[in-house]
Amino acid sequence: MKKHNFSAGPCILPQEVFQEASQAILDFNDSGLSILEISHRSPAFVSVMEEARSLALELLGLKNKDYKALFLQGGASTQFLMAAYNLLEKKAAYLNTGTWSTKAIKEAKLFGEVVEVASSKDKNFNYIPKFFSVPDDADYFHCTSNNTIFGTQIKEFPSTSKPLVCDMSSDIFSRELDFSKFDLIYAGAQKNMGPAGTTLVVVKEDILGKVSREIPSMMNYSTHIGKDSMFNTPAVYAVYVSMLTLRWIKAKGGIKAMEDLNNKKAELIYAEIDRNPLFRGFAAKEDRSPMNATFNLTDESHKETFDKLWKDAGVNGLNGHRSVGGYRASMYNALSLESVQVVVDCMQELERKI
Ligand code: PMP
Repeated sequence: MKKHNFSAGPCILPQEVFQEASQAILDFNDSGLSILEISHRSPAFVSVMEEARSLALELLGLKNKDYKALFLQGGASTQFLMAAYNLLEKKAAYLNTGTWSTKAIKEAKLFGEVVEVASSKDKNFNYIPKFFSVPDDADYFHCTSNNTIFGTQIKEFPSTSKPLVCDMSSDIFSRELDFSKFDLIYAGAQKNMGPAGTTLVVVKEDILGKVSREIPSMMNYSTHIGKDSMFNTPAVYAVYVSMLTLRWIKAKGGIKAMEDLNNKKAELIYAEIDRNPLFRGFAAKEDRSPMNATFNLTDESHKETFDKLWKDAGVNGLNGHRSVGGYRASMYNALSLESVQVVVDCMQELERKI
């Protein structure tokens, strides 16, 4: 039976990528060797790393600009720390839109003063705060573009003269933005880009080298830039599968094509959430994320019936995060419109049944 994978991350990746990635374990590029057993310094892998770095910049429209792409380890959570390590001299400004922003703030506080410019905690993070200003003396401004758990997304980024740092873990490569507005972007691979184990960092070089502290080599972006993202052994397989996924995005028409389909999927599910009296959306309408749609039953007594309906239909990973409850449909790039229709059919079937 076909599975419809709405998992929040790690999550669905394109079938074509799985096919090619599995073949490379047995025989990488007809070399007679597995991708898992070759040196990361071999020309074959170095070219994988270079292609992955180059494709990431190309898709974001940042190639031939002053940006470098890195594939690092330690997840986006290490970037909470590393961003502050490299950029925070005295004071940083953070927008708090949920669990991940809160964690980023906690790490930054280890390095200096953190000003929370606004927070949506008062409503369990179901909206994006809009009216705030970034202090003039902040070293940078940090935000989370898409809040995976609460299902909200920043639609308009504040214009600030300060370096703009953004955790794009759960919506990178899903929508067109002017990425040149950002000075540091980071994203764990395990949503739109590839398997868990590597994190994309895109950094504008001129924001580096401005803090007075000594930065340990592994925590220093300049170390990794200087070594072309090969300072130490990278997560070779995760980078390889990310490269295949980036190739797939490019072949499908780039971020624009991803965005068009993502908007169709989002329209389909949100229209049903709004129409069907048995469901209620969690996030404020204007801040809804096309990546993660969060919704609850209006009457919890239907939970057992609804859960059986979607599970029987082959749907996986629809349960909401414990801090929101209810349901979360994560609709990353590789998820088809047809899979979203299956969930919508289940929602309509519930209405017919009761
Ligand atoms: N930021 C966001 C927006 C996330 O969704 C996640 C995890 N899903 C993280 C950060 C943490 O990522 P990691 O598990 O790679 O450290």
